[in-house]
Amino acid sequence: MALYWTIIVIVLAEFAYSIVLSVLNRKASHQPIPELLRGIYDEAEYARQQAYSRENSRFGVVSNIVNTTLLLCLFALGGFAWMDGYARELSNNPVLIALLFFFMFYVLDWLVGLPFSVYDTFHIEAKYGFNRSTPRLFVMDTIKGFFVSLLIYGILMGLVVWIYGLIPEFFWLVAWAIVSVITLILQFLYSDVIVPLFNKQTPLAEGELRSAIESFAQKVGFKLQNIYVIDGSKRSSKANAYFTGFGSRKRIVLYDTLMEQLTTDEIVAVLAHEIGHYKHRHILKDMSSALILNLIMFYLFSLVIDSKDIAAAAGCDVPSFHINMTVFMLLFTPIQIIISLISNILSRKHEWEADEFACQHGLGKYLSSALKKMSAQSLSNLTPHPVVVYTQYSHPTLLQRVEHFEG
Ligand SMILES: [Zn+2]
Repeated sequence: MALYWTIIVIVLAEFAYSIVLSVLNRKASHQPIPELLRGIYDEAEYARQQAYSRENSRFGVVSNIVNTTLLLCLFALGGFAWMDGYARELSNNPVLIALLFFFMFYVLDWLVGLPFSVYDTFHIEAKYGFNRSTPRLFVMDTIKGFFVSLLIYGILMGLVVWIYGLIPEFFWLVAWAIVSVITLILQFLYSDVIVPLFNKQTPLAEGELRSAIESFAQKVGFKLQNIYVIDGSKRSSKANAYFTGFGSRKRIVLYDTLMEQLTTDEIVAVLAHEIGHYKHRHILKDMSSALILNLIMFYLFSLVIDSKDIAAAAGCDVPSFHINMTVFMLLFTPIQIIISLISNILSRKHEWEADEFACQHGLGKYLSSALKKMSAQSLSNLTPHPVVVYTQYSHPTLLQRVEHFEG
């Protein structure tokens, strides 16, 4: 019973924590634009930005309320126990029972999230002129996304539960090794297998931009064959760029919307930032810490994997992989919050290093103007609350970055 209430407190505390953060952010957003960023928005645009922020914040709170309610219903009112019982009626095989249970959970979560996704895309994003996705494309994306995740998680879960049945004592180590290998393979193939399901990537076309990028890439020893343009414009007018993969599959991907919004010098500066990530080996560092964290999580889970108390907390008489894992994940939430806090601190450090790389190559000024343009275009919040930045931001704020460039 103590465990039952501990989990309810954890779920409610996490909810309260995110509400506090969003209230803090709401309050901070009423500040005037910082001196260094003056001129990014005129008065009308700033009012639009404020309205967009408010709308997103309200949306976040409502979706949070619905998700928390769903979780509480499933856990506290016996939803998980019912799903477990139903899966057991359909099969006797522990692997199949677990897969059926996770499938029901997945579909439920997906169904609850779907209206939010529709509202976000076709109401909020459309209202502020960002959405470019058509209903048809949205439906295709949703269906593909559903099956891609289902396939990947289904295979991973199936394997892990199966291994648990074979070697319960060393399950955590073997399962971790297999999950790690599959994750690495997925990372390696991400650009070639997953991305093409949703987007078209093309090598950078000949021209002034390509020559400018070519000479910079050559100067810093980065292969131009690894630079691609992606058709992000078919979904949103927001611009982006990212670095992905490792070894022979590393690549920098620039959104076509980025090319529309920025000058050649600014694009080279954004590219320099991405090459900075590569030079500092950020992908490898992130992957190694994720692998270590997973190992710790698998080990901790193995300590409670057959605990009767854990299963009883969810209203089940018999412990099982899927019920114990679900309850374990709920108990793990506070640690997860701390982990994401640390990973955001690290990520901001990496972003700072990538910015510094661009600065060292004399591109700070252009990166600064590129980021200002992109922030203005995407109506981003210029004055987030410091606590929100500290806990949730994977990038330094625009103000911090501009101070870095101009300091
Ligand atoms: Zn970056």
